[in-house]
Amino acid sequence: MTINGETLIKVEGLHKIFGELHALDGVSEEIRKGEVVVVVGPSGSGKSTFLRSLNLLEVPSRGHVYFEGTDITGRNVDINKHRQKMGMVFQHFNLFPHKTILQNITLAPVKLLKKSKEEAEEKAMDLLRLVGLEEKANAYPSQLSGGQKQRIAIIRSLAMDPEVMLFDEPTSALDPEMVGEVLELMKKLAQDGMTMVVVTHEMGFAKEVATRVIFMDEGQIKEQGSPAEFFGNPKEPRLQEFLSKIL
Ligand code: ADP
Ligand code: MG
Repeated sequence: MTINGETLIKVEGLHKIFGELHALDGVSEEIRKGEVVVVVGPSGSGKSTFLRSLNLLEVPSRGHVYFEGTDITGRNVDINKHRQKMGMVFQHFNLFPHKTILQNITLAPVKLLKKSKEEAEEKAMDLLRLVGLEEKANAYPSQLSGGQKQRIAIIRSLAMDPEVMLFDEPTSALDPEMVGEVLELMKKLAQDGMTMVVVTHEMGFAKEVATRVIFMDEGQIKEQGSPAEFFGNPKEPRLQEFLSKIL
């Protein structure tokens, strides 16, 4: 995988404080176009807070987030305009239960991108075909398995033509037999060149798909490297301990 080197997201000196708790403690990082950055670390280490800071779902207590060169933490920024270009997929699928799958996928493109219904539906059907779920277009979320719902949540984000996809433990709530189909779709996106930041405990995915792996602990990035370096030659004792528990 070649990375063209252009910076898409840059964070500088990011802090997030909840009451007494320093959830992010000085994180600086750059995500370049085409990178697949996997973020790992113990529970409570700040992974979700970091990811949510990238599109300002969490507003940093201190520090800056630049997206496509714009300081989106600055004043007078239309955050919604930038946020539209960052797809986000959570552990829980957040599909609208009273809307069909097709309506779920076309809602934002029609409302926010001002696409015609026809155009949005055409794209939605293409995406449904991509994941082999075209026959579910008129079904409701409750009629789908967890793995199907998560694949719909992913293509719903893709319908907005995002520049980057952010994933927060997208397979953690799934039954084990459904994890593979979601990881396969994510792998396909990565191979198609999508820029991705993925918080996950799926180390197989990290080894196979990541261009870079980041270890967070106590609100800081403690180590990072290519999958080969990261898993083959971890340096920080805390990372060694973390890996020894999960591998
Ligand atoms: P991770 O995703 O690595 O498990 P999080 O980013 O969710 O970690 O949380 C980091 C720390 O911040 C944890 O101690 C968590 O309890 C705390 N935290 C996260 N969100 C909030 C919030 N909205 N209010 C208070 N504390 C929070
Ligand atoms: Mg989390």
